[in-house]
Amino acid sequence: MTATPEKIAGVVRPQLERLLAEGGSFGDARFYAEDANQRLMLYDGNLESNTRTDEQGIGVRVLWHGAWGFAATADLDAIPACFDRALANARAAAQLPGFPKDMGPARPSKGEYVAPVEKDPFDVPLADKLAFLKGLDEQLKGEGIAQRVVSARFQRRRIHYWNTEGTEVSRRVMNTFATMMVMAPDKDGRTQRRSVELNSDGAGTRGWEWLADENCFAGHAERIKQDLAAILAAEPLPPGRRDLIILPGQGFLQVHETIGHALELDRILGYELSFAGGSHVRPEMIGKLRYGSDKLNCRAGVTANSPGTFGYDDEGTPQRDYYLIKEGILVNVLSSRTDLGEANARAGREVVKESGTAARACAFYRTPIDRMTNINIDAGPDGTLDDIVRATEDGIIVDTPVSWSIGSNREHFHFGTEIAWEVKDGKRGRVFKNTTYQGHTLEFWNSLDKVGDESTWKLQSVPNCGKGEPNQIMELGHGIPVMRFKNVQTGEKE
Ligand SMILES: [Zn+2]
Repeated sequence: MTATPEKIAGVVRPQLERLLAEGGSFGDARFYAEDANQRLMLYDGNLESNTRTDEQGIGVRVLWHGAWGFAATADLDAIPACFDRALANARAAAQLPGFPKDMGPARPSKGEYVAPVEKDPFDVPLADKLAFLKGLDEQLKGEGIAQRVVSARFQRRRIHYWNTEGTEVSRRVMNTFATMMVMAPDKDGRTQRRSVELNSDGAGTRGWEWLADENCFAGHAERIKQDLAAILAAEPLPPGRRDLIILPGQGFLQVHETIGHALELDRILGYELSFAGGSHVRPEMIGKLRYGSDKLNCRAGVTANSPGTFGYDDEGTPQRDYYLIKEGILVNVLSSRTDLGEANARAGREVVKESGTAARACAFYRTPIDRMTNINIDAGPDGTLDDIVRATEDGIIVDTPVSWSIGSNREHFHFGTEIAWEVKDGKRGRVFKNTTYQGHTLEFWNSLDKVGDESTWKLQSVPNCGKGEPNQIMELGHGIPVMRFKNVQTGEKE
């Protein structure tokens, strides 16, 4: 069958009716008319990797007597059989003990989301893409630079969604990711590196024009070379407790690992314990827990130019912008519709009212789980980076992760960064290498005492967040200002 969305809809709608007739309480179908991915990587100017994948298929969920069944197929002539399998799986799952799943009140929606794009990267010929990346690689060459990496990834998806409540939404999602990195061994024989990811101020578009904009990406080539030269000449960071100023290039990971993953409701309920998949948060803490200082305002945001913006989640719920942490207090979590009832029952009161629009699947053949969207920190009242440096007596500025380890419940962390700058008596000074810092999640966020203004806020993309069994790699964003934390353990404890 030629798979136009209209033809697929004609097959899917009567099947959804059938699910209800056979005792299902809810069902939905996600048809990926297109799921295209292209990755290109140059290593020292040579084309190391050039992969292109194209997928098409449909995934079906059904809720039957409080249990989920899921099935998927790439055979678009076999959609009714796929519904049969989803129903059979739900019937089997209903025999197992567990809290009954429930979608809550029906929330039908209709609409279309189209990501803002001026030039579709898939319309740019491969030769032109490689010539552009080669041009970047040329800019990274220089004395003392031992290795260079330039990579880009493009993603285009056309997804159609239908459910038994009458929701019918479609999405055209486009993502562009890119990284540049330079590396060299230092005088101790340890490899040092400096890198930059394509980022934005949250506005703008998501196509080839973003990558090609000098101000967004290519303009950073010279800066990372100069930084690497400074790192190679630097001494290791002397350990000690001091103030820590985190740039958005590091702050995104701090938020990702110690706020974002910890606030996924399926993890809070104990359903995702693999891969450091627990959470120190329990349902009864929602609305009460002091997560950070009153300077901390964190939201699941909707920003134009981000891989965490997609219009509708994989339950067809329109994406919305809401606080997770307001003036330091945990007020909401990342959720889909299905676990709200269980969270409220376990808390003994209503702690979550409606879906956090975080139901996301990485492919038609995976079922949606609770995922990050754009987990952003609001800009604050404490001025520019220079203002924050001027107000710091003894500290360091850190940027860009090289290593990270996280407690299994996200209760503590240890991060290494590519670079650090010393701050003494309000002035930025020498560079340090081999920088690490560590802390306990709540203690650390409670030590947040300065949050930079809009001029310091940047949106970082995450192309490769991993979660779930089977594993699902997901794309998202973090909009982060400069942040200062008081009296942090930096370097290894003596
Ligand atoms: Zn992640």
